[in-house]
Amino acid sequence: MTIENKVVVITGASSGIGETTAKLLAEKGAKLVLAARRADKLQKIVDSIQSENGDATYIATDVTQIEDNQQLVEHAISTYGKIDVIFLNAGLMPNSPLSKLKSDEWNQMVDVNIKGVLNGIEAVLPKFISQKSGHVITTSSVAGLKAYPGGAVYGATKWAVRDLMEVLRMESAQEGNNIRTATIYPAAIETELTDRITDKDTAKGTEQMYDQYQISPYSIANIVAFAIDQPEDVNINEFTVGPTSQPW
Ligand code: NDP
Repeated sequence: MTIENKVVVITGASSGIGETTAKLLAEKGAKLVLAARRADKLQKIVDSIQSENGDATYIATDVTQIEDNQQLVEHAISTYGKIDVIFLNAGLMPNSPLSKLKSDEWNQMVDVNIKGVLNGIEAVLPKFISQKSGHVITTSSVAGLKAYPGGAVYGATKWAVRDLMEVLRMESAQEGNNIRTATIYPAAIETELTDRITDKDTAKGTEQMYDQYQISPYSIANIVAFAIDQPEDVNINEFTVGPTSQPW
């Protein structure tokens, strides 16, 4: 089955990569279930998809809460009767040097970027195992592949996602669950991600870097569509995607 009529759940769908992916997949005939905390934004995106004759619904979701993730999966099934793909994309990047001891932000990143992904997996896995099909896609980051100053905790969370996803792929194959996985490692993408950096020096350096290199979130949406569109017996497990001009 290709993208058309697949039921796709997206976390972090209220802006950036999640929003753009939702709109692209809706154009391609998928049925979208959008999740994030900002319900007003989700409502507008659903309205916009529906105005183009697309099919979408939303449910306000805090990915750090397991109950919210379970309600999200139940909402998809009660609305569309099934769930084919979950794109665990919600994330935060309030970078700073470790010496600034911004431990509240460290904890937020662990809660959203790691536990949010685990909660999504916990909520959806029983369904995918029982139906012997499903596709788990996550947004890690090039920070999950390469270390850089200022990105210790963010990188650690994205490194963790890489490991979780690789083991999910291996175990799903071993157990014969027929679950596909894809982990995406984006570099600089033009979204709201950098707006929440509170350390002034880090914010300035990041802004300069993004101003020079950033590319459209459609670059990632296209990859999600490509991964979903592969034949059911083909798993493309990893994608590293960034600006052609970014020299690292
Ligand atoms: P945005 O800031 O535009 O989007 C982040 C999304 O995450 C928002 O929809 C936000 O929604 C959601 N989110 C944050 N916290 C929670 C929460 N507790 N529960 C539910 N949703 C939450 O940035 P991007 O689109 O860039 O980020 C998407 C993913 O891409 C992230 O995982 C990020 O780490 C990753 N990434 C981005 C790169 C970039 O350069 N932009 C590079 C590499 C990876 P709301 O606030 O409404 O809850």
